[in-house]
Amino acid sequence: MTEIIIDSYLCSGCETCAQMCPDVFRVDPVTEKAELLDIAPVLTDEIYLTAAFCPEKCIEIIE
Ligand code: SF4
Repeated sequence: MTEIIIDSYLCSGCETCAQMCPDVFRVDPVTEKAELLDIAPVLTDEIYLTAAFCPEKCIEIIE
């Protein structure tokens, strides 16, 4: 099973992921941390690209 894990400790709330992939990621307005809208999305190139562009490198994709 594939899984996306966001390290909330490292997340800076920059919203890059939410802008690049708004169907999968959002930044919680209260905690200012990224979270998943879809817990088990189909892994697309956009998701891999978003993980690569996360400035804190806190999006991990496990396959
Ligand atoms: S791109 Fe990374 S650091 Fe920025 S909000 Fe998303 S998970 Fe957090």
